[in-house]
Amino acid sequence: MTPPKRPVTVKLPSAAEAAARIEAMRRQTEGSANYRTKSLKIHGPICAKCGREFDQSNLHLLTVHHKDGNHNNNPADGSNWENLCAHCHEDEHSRDLLGDYLSK
Ligand SMILES: [Zn+2]
Ligand SMILES: [Zn+2]
Repeated sequence: MTPPKRPVTVKLPSAAEAAARIEAMRRQTEGSANYRTKSLKIHGPICAKCGREFDQSNLHLLTVHHKDGNHNNNPADGSNWENLCAHCHEDEHSRDLLGDYLSK
């Protein structure tokens, strides 16, 4: 004997519930997305090393470098950020590694 199939009732989230979920998701991603926007605002869309300027078409190539290497250190005044193009950013980090290596 099989139990009678009941109509599946899907509980739709209310608008408030949906908004709360979106807010929670937004908060999770805020940290990383936000400091880049802020840094670009403070320092401008220019690579701090080679001086290359960026516009909307290639802005994704400009990255934010943390001067002290701590990605959680994001002071609002931008003092720990440096806008670097992908090339200079890589260069900066390989230098760090080489520096560490040479000082050991
Ligand atoms: Zn550069
Ligand atoms: Zn970096």
